[in-house]
Order: sequence, then C-alpha cells, then structure tokens
Amino acid sequence: MRSIVEAYWDSKLPIYDIRLSQLQKEGINCLLIDVDGTLINRKSTRIPKAVKDWISESKKFFSLYLISNNPSEKRISKIAKDLDIRYKFNALKPRKKATLDVINEIKCDSKNIVIIGDRIFTDIIVGNRCNIKTILVKRLDRDGLPIKLNLTLLIEKLITFFIK
Ligand SMILES: [Mg+2]
Repeated sequence: MRSIVEAYWDSKLPIYDIRLSQLQKEGINCLLIDVDGTLINRKSTRIPKAVKDWISESKKFFSLYLISNNPSEKRISKIAKDLDIRYKFNALKPRKKATLDVINEIKCDSKNIVIIGDRIFTDIIVGNRCNIKTILVKRLDRDGLPIKLNLTLLIEKLITFFIK
C-alpha cells in the first residue's frame, strides 16, 4: 500500500518532459494539473513555450483541468484562458473537495486520472486521498527551466522520510 506522501511516479522532470505515450501506457486519459511551479513560475506571468507546446499536444489525447491553490482568480483564470483549459483556483489542496468536484465534473474513471504537481504536501497528498494517480514534477524557474535546488521539496521529502 502506497503511503499518502508517496507519488505514484516521482518523475524528476519538468512537466514538458513527461512523455505522453507513457501516460497513455498507464491508461491515463485525464490530467489534473497544478499551476504555480508546475506550468509557470509562481512569480511569472509568461507561460514558457515548452509548456504551451506540451499542453497543446496533450489536448489531442487527454482531458485537461487546472487545479490551483492560488487564491487569485485573476491570475489563474488568465493562465487558464491562455491555455484554454477549465480551472479551479483556491482549491485548498490537500483538502479533497475541489479535486473531488473536478473528478465528478470530468466524468472520468478514477483509475484513468492523474494529478500532476510540484509539491508533495498539496498535489501528491490530495491525489492519494482522492484515489487517483500522482506525478511529481520539477518546479519551473522564471525562464521555464527546472529549478536545481528546490528547498520546499527537499524539506517535504525530509519530513516525508520521517512520517512514512
Ligand atoms: Mg505548485
């Protein structure tokens, strides 16, 4: 049995290096995607080209939904509009409600859904609590490149090690 803090797949990659064929092999057809750190740097407003390209390719195969903890609807709706994806802001992950609402809305079997995010204590835990697959990805910097030293994740992994 997987622990609540354990990702189904700890990719060690930025989201745009996740192979779509690999997701298909896992039987995935719905992607619930975190926003800040995962698609765009928290302090940036410009979505990296690699992310845009990956998203538009993904749309050919998967149903997409953005689930962000960011309380700013202005920011999240703008990003969602740019990418043309449905969204939830202020989702309060790891609380289950918003994620369960999305799971119900997309009418996708739980086993075919994955949540993709850059944090264990929000994205991975909520995915495990909602019984869907989880992928941990590398956080993006302002240039859209994976951050080398992610202190938040390091601390989360350290805590995880002790509560496993
Ligand atoms: Mg994030």
